[in-house]
Amino acid sequence: MIIAGNFKSFKTREGTKEYLEKLEAEVLNSSSEVVIFPPSTALQSWKGKVSVGTQNAYPTENGAFTGEIGLEQLEEFQTKYILIGHSERREILKERDKFIAEKFDFFTENSFKVILCIGESLEIRREGEEKVLEFLNRQLEKIDLSKDFVIAYEPIWAIGTGITPTLQEIDSILEKLHKLSGKKVLYGGSVKLSNSVEILSLPNCDGVLVGGASLEPLDFAKMVSIADEVQK
Ligand code: PEP
Repeated sequence: MIIAGNFKSFKTREGTKEYLEKLEAEVLNSSSEVVIFPPSTALQSWKGKVSVGTQNAYPTENGAFTGEIGLEQLEEFQTKYILIGHSERREILKERDKFIAEKFDFFTENSFKVILCIGESLEIRREGEEKVLEFLNRQLEKIDLSKDFVIAYEPIWAIGTGITPTLQEIDSILEKLHKLSGKKVLYGGSVKLSNSVEILSLPNCDGVLVGGASLEPLDFAKMVSIADEVQK
């Protein structure tokens, strides 16, 4: 199981360090893979059970890319995990499938553990599962499926809204993504402590990507324990 926490633009460097100390103590003996994604300014060289990944980076060693970071900056923290294709970057920062595929190629070639986020809008979900799958397939079209990576299925309408698809709807999509890609598939979108048992117990769920509910280390640690308990 993979339990990943996306801090988005929350927490400082000091706050992330305190968080890591608390989380590490709680999950030390976990059998799950535990990774947090703080803002770039809060990246840490953390050696322990918990891994620290980056929410974003530019596909470059270094260079003239104002406001971005590249491999050189990530190496300073031995960062090896990256989120690619998060819907907030697709929607707000206008990242397109072609650029997402460029990032994907660059970071997989540089031995990063990529969590590739895909997910549909509410409009598409309302058209039914077949349309959702068509859309997800299109998001994967430019992605080299022979590479080693993890998919996070995150319906856009479930992110930060407190609304989730039904358990059946989640598992059905995860199952199809498994079959299509042969990769581990996480679910993301309003995962909280209160719904994590049901979601993590789904037969096709390999873990969760958690936004808001990952900000409290003890709650996040409890999700890790739940993942250990339901381990398939
Ligand atoms: C996310 O940011 O990837 C996410 C799933 O957010 P939330 O858990 O807050 O819906």
